[in-house]
Amino acid sequence: MTLQEIGDVPTTPVWYNGFLAMTSQPSSCIEELSPRVYKLEIVGWEITLRCNLQCLHCGSSAGPSSTRTCELDLEECKSVVRQLVALGTSRIVLSGGEPFLCNHWEPLAQFICDQGIYLQFVSNGTLIDDNLSRKLQNLPGKVAVGLSLDGAVPETHENLRNSPGLFQKVLRAIKLLRVHGIPVAVITTVHKDNLAELRGLYKLLLQSGVYVWQIQLAMPSGRMSDHPEMVLSGEESLSLARFIARVRDEGNLRVVAGDNLGYYNSLEIKLRESLWTGCPAGIRALGIRSNGDVTGVSLCRKLLQRATYAKSHWLRSG
Ligand code: SF4
Repeated sequence: MTLQEIGDVPTTPVWYNGFLAMTSQPSSCIEELSPRVYKLEIVGWEITLRCNLQCLHCGSSAGPSSTRTCELDLEECKSVVRQLVALGTSRIVLSGGEPFLCNHWEPLAQFICDQGIYLQFVSNGTLIDDNLSRKLQNLPGKVAVGLSLDGAVPETHENLRNSPGLFQKVLRAIKLLRVHGIPVAVITTVHKDNLAELRGLYKLLLQSGVYVWQIQLAMPSGRMSDHPEMVLSGEESLSLARFIARVRDEGNLRVVAGDNLGYYNSLEIKLRESLWTGCPAGIRALGIRSNGDVTGVSLCRKLLQRATYAKSHWLRSG
């Protein structure tokens, strides 16, 4: 199946405000500095470390045999959601590992939607079939899915993920989700081997009907810390930023720079919808691991001081 075969299917999530990028919602610097507006808006939650892939660049070091002891069960997850509701959280992003491998993803998703919280998934796309798409469609709330796609041609996406056929599976997942009215984002992690393919991927996505393209840097964390040679140089990061600024200017597709890209150079104003006013970790955002550990944001592999603050002040059991 090619993207040209996908055809025109509905996708108009007017409520949608970017995918995982914490800066996607407009804000003013003055508001940011005012303690009275500190509110935990978005939570990135790795609900399982298990994954059916074992990608070379996985920041979580997830895989088929990756486990965390004491991953939260459904009742514990619901308890966390109740606490997040009390803290005013408006968006939860369930990831992993592969979130659809979590045994209780469905009742948890249902519970989150029942609280009126926007729900997003980040998935590798392998488990998305007609049945799963229908389950997402039937959730009683606003739901979107972000799919990883790292190259314009199969080899680039599949080599790093060691999964032949994965490229077509992702394209099929995009189609299925769109057919079921689920807004789809694509998330691309950029490293040395796919930097040159971004224009080709852009053209592919223009035909796919995805709502957002989030472009983020591969970071030397997780398994990627064993491959620092794949991380972009400063010069390459700048060329990536220029690319993002260009395609945003073209205005054909909503493109969002990941929070690990920028800041404070002349391109900043063109990279995202609001000015970068500082890391939101522990202020407007936090990450939760599958065992309940709290980090600043999902991308933080180490518990930060501010995350410790978040854990003790935001998620205390009372
Ligand atoms: S990058 Fe995503 S798909 Fe790959 S191993 Fe990690 S969690 Fe799984």
